[in-house]
Amino acid sequence: MKVHHLNCGTMHPPRGPVCVCHVLLLETDNGLVLVDAGFGLDDCADPKERVGPVRHFTRPEFQSSETAAHQLDRLGFGREDVRHIVLTHLDTDHVGGAADFPHAQLHVTSKEALAAFESPTKAERVRYGRQQWVKEHDVVEHSPNGESWRGFSAAKELDGIAPGIVLVSLPGHTRGHACVAVDAGHRWVLHCGDAFYHYGYMEGTPVPRTLWAMETAVAFDRKRVLDNHARLSELYQRSEPDLILAAAHDLELFQRARDTA
Ligand SMILES: [Zn+2]
Repeated sequence: MKVHHLNCGTMHPPRGPVCVCHVLLLETDNGLVLVDAGFGLDDCADPKERVGPVRHFTRPEFQSSETAAHQLDRLGFGREDVRHIVLTHLDTDHVGGAADFPHAQLHVTSKEALAAFESPTKAERVRYGRQQWVKEHDVVEHSPNGESWRGFSAAKELDGIAPGIVLVSLPGHTRGHACVAVDAGHRWVLHCGDAFYHYGYMEGTPVPRTLWAMETAVAFDRKRVLDNHARLSELYQRSEPDLILAAAHDLELFQRARDTA
């Protein structure tokens, strides 16, 4: 399937590198699919209400021209053509744009739905942005297990959407965080969501301290975050020629993916 790489939210964390919200737009035989949704039009119109205090740490530009809705317009697609949105997790910078596609089905792991909708812990109660959610959304929960994908044992192909879209459970950043692997024909793209913030973790080069501090502060399970860095970096270092890794916020990996699409 054809994969477009969209940045749906440039951010400028203090003393950090410029960050993006890397969203995949998939052209499937079953309509358009988004992987993550970045920020949406309502977030840009009212960041204080919609995104809350976290915006002071991430400092998004909130440009409506960067929303998936506007980028689809420019690509000549209709917003109603987006039938499904697969979310790595439900943090505000990943789900906000989903509100612009109220007719789309949302796909998340069951554990992430539990974290966001029932919020068993205090940290989870303050973490998620209920004000961004749309009542009309049909939320489909998945429990990836049993199948494996390139050594990750808890995976599930979402063939109800289209073949070649695999939800790979990788909790740590949040309780039900997942990566999404997509078959782009000549290669696979593994969208790692917030499983790591910076390509330095993959290459063994320095990671900006601001990003390390933010990643640590918001981790649901810090040990698992470190384990995930190690597993993904091992995959990255293996340099499988038919696989590229992307992280939601890493500008370098976003540009590489987009330039070789
Ligand atoms: Zn994020």
